[in-house]
Amino acid sequence: MRDLGSVDALVLGGGPAGLGAAWTLAAGGARVLVVEREETVGGLCRTHAREGYRFDMGGHRFITADRDLLDRVVRLCGDDLLLAERSSEVALLGRRFRYPLEPLDLARKLPPGLALRALLSYLRGRLRPGPPVESFEDWASRRFGRVLYELFIGPYTEKLWGVSPAALSPEWAGQRISVPDLWAAARALFARGDAPARTHAKTFLYPRLGMGQLFERIAAAARSAGALLLTGSVPRAFERRGTRLNAALLETPEGPARVRTDTVLSTVPLPCLLDLALGPEAARELEGAFPFRPVRFLNIALDRPEALPTTWCYVGEGRLRAGRLQEPKKRSPHMAPPGRSSLMIELPHAPGDDIDRAGDADLLERARGELGALGVDLGDDVRFAFSVRAPEAYPVHLRGTPAARARALAALGRLENLRTFGRQGAFRFIFSDAALRMGIAAGEGFLAGRLPTNQDLARVQSAQRLTEVASVVGPTVLAGRERG
Ligand SMILES: Cc1cc2nc3c(=O)[nH]c(=O)nc-3n(C[C@H](O)[C@H](O)[C@H](O)COP(=O)(O)OP(=O)(O)OC[C@H]3O[C@@H](n4cnc5c(N)ncnc54)[C@H](O)[C@@H]3O)c2cc1C
Repeated sequence: MRDLGSVDALVLGGGPAGLGAAWTLAAGGARVLVVEREETVGGLCRTHAREGYRFDMGGHRFITADRDLLDRVVRLCGDDLLLAERSSEVALLGRRFRYPLEPLDLARKLPPGLALRALLSYLRGRLRPGPPVESFEDWASRRFGRVLYELFIGPYTEKLWGVSPAALSPEWAGQRISVPDLWAAARALFARGDAPARTHAKTFLYPRLGMGQLFERIAAAARSAGALLLTGSVPRAFERRGTRLNAALLETPEGPARVRTDTVLSTVPLPCLLDLALGPEAARELEGAFPFRPVRFLNIALDRPEALPTTWCYVGEGRLRAGRLQEPKKRSPHMAPPGRSSLMIELPHAPGDDIDRAGDADLLERARGELGALGVDLGDDVRFAFSVRAPEAYPVHLRGTPAARARALAALGRLENLRTFGRQGAFRFIFSDAALRMGIAAGEGFLAGRLPTNQDLARVQSAQRLTEVASVVGPTVLAGRERG
């Protein structure tokens, strides 16, 4: 077995959370090794490039209300950070509605009888407080009214998560949908000066070559400060003495290896860490509480200059399998060769189902059918298509998740030099800003000799109330920046 020597911190997972930790630790003089399963780092924020076309794993945008974090990102990326404008819509009932939902747009485009029923059910929800909110279904129907819930929010949620919204925890809702209700949506439309909710942010920063470029820069900064990044590798076991982990056995492309470490900072999926750290027996009881919803991204390179009228489109029709359509070039003109564009389709699915099993050619044929139903005809303009898989795209927040998470974090907390965080490690529905922030907090805590607890790290939230970019970075940083 190869001996990799000794490090101060072993970081498991090279996504935003792991890279945030490695960057901070290495810059502070600590010896760090990052172990990443895939061939490249960046996690869900990777960008895949082929023949001049570039595709994120689901279109990403960088939004944060954290001035310090934004300053660091701006310093790292410089002129490669573009200023992009969002435009998004919902395809439903053969029409296109603005997203975030706007009361006047709904009133104009819904059939009049349905619009009236939607309004009445919304008012009923607001005026007559019901029993305590116990599920996502309760949360959403209370805020948007039963009619809108049954028309769009319920079927879309079920398609995305693969379980009934009645089984989902309302905890997740506040992170995913930062518009508290329709009334807030109406106010946001006319808001002046107030920081709007994340969902409403109209402008955002976006790296010239895709979201992955930001994390390639962070990885490069970590490397140049001395961090070692081992890709194509996974941890297989820990060596433990009492309540401390003192070494890890790894599977690497060059065969098995062993590394001694003072601390383990894990961002790999929580069930995987439970198994490694507590052993299969102890982990069995907890593991089942943390299912992930996989997504397959079908990337289609086109021979036409434009693919969609908006940056992205939620597919509200429950019978269609596509979750969202995205046109990468609407974020940065450098995401496709000059004069051409592309389309990315998100396909949430269950492990082993028809979407999971289909080959890329089959997926493309299905996509043509669904796009046709949405009024998008690809004709002869497809140059090539390929799919990318994210087995852990969405941590499924069931009603029992908060209690199970508390038990899992407490059990792992008994190992004094192990911490778990990030979207997969804390099993929280967070965005890349919070994942980065968790990693930076873990790194800073280590350097100060006071590692935050698992519970403290899990509490780091994605920005809820940002936020036009200008309100955070200020006009000087934005002046002269290229438009995406
Ligand atoms: C469709 C979609 C759209 C999104 N849009 C946005 C957006 O617009 N803006 C935004 O800020 N965020 C967005 N996000 C969220 C963002 O991608 C995540 O918050 C962020 O990537 C989380 O970082 P992480 O490091 O915690 O986890 P991940 O990015 O999942 O990284 C975890 C890493 O661990 C590695 N790993 C897993 N198992 C092992 C193992 N056993 N051993 C070693 N390594 C392992 C993985 O390969 C991965 O690299 C989106 C996510 C999805 C799915």
